[in-house]
Amino acid sequence: MNAPARRLLPLHAKVSSALTREASYEGLLPIARLERLRAVTVDGDGSLQVELQLRRDKTRVPKLEGRVRGELPVVCQRCLRPFQWPLDIAIDLRLVFNEDEESRVLKDSEPLLIEDDQVLFHAVVEEEVLLALPYAPRCEREDCEPG
Ligand SMILES: [Zn+2]
Repeated sequence: MNAPARRLLPLHAKVSSALTREASYEGLLPIARLERLRAVTVDGDGSLQVELQLRRDKTRVPKLEGRVRGELPVVCQRCLRPFQWPLDIAIDLRLVFNEDEESRVLKDSEPLLIEDDQVLFHAVVEEEVLLALPYAPRCEREDCEPG
C-alpha cells in the first residue's frame, strides 16, 4: 500500500457495516470501465481519482460523501477539437432504502437508493460525473472558433 493513488476504486461496499465503521474508499476508476461515460468522451482514456466515505451526519442521516477529480477527454462544441475538460466535483448523497423515502427526501437532498445493502461505487460515480458534464463543452484555446 505504498502508492495508494494507483489503487483501483473498489466496485462496491456493504452499506450497513461501512456506515458503522465510517469506512472510506479511494482509488482510481478508469473511464474505460464506465460504459456511458466512455460513450461521451473521445477515446475512453484516463482515470478518475475518487474518494468516498460512508457515514452518518450529526443528525444520524446516512450519507455517501466524497470527491471525484480527473480530466475528461471531450470534443469542444465550438472548434470541434478534443480537449481535456477538468473535473472536480463533490459527492453528497443521502442514502435511502426504499422508494417512499426516496421521494420524501428529494426536496432537500440528492437521494441514493440502496438495494440489497450494497452501494455500487462505479455506477454512482458515473452518474454524478455525467450530471456534472456540460451539455456543450468548450475549450479555452485562443484560436477556438467555429470549426
Ligand atoms: Zn474549442
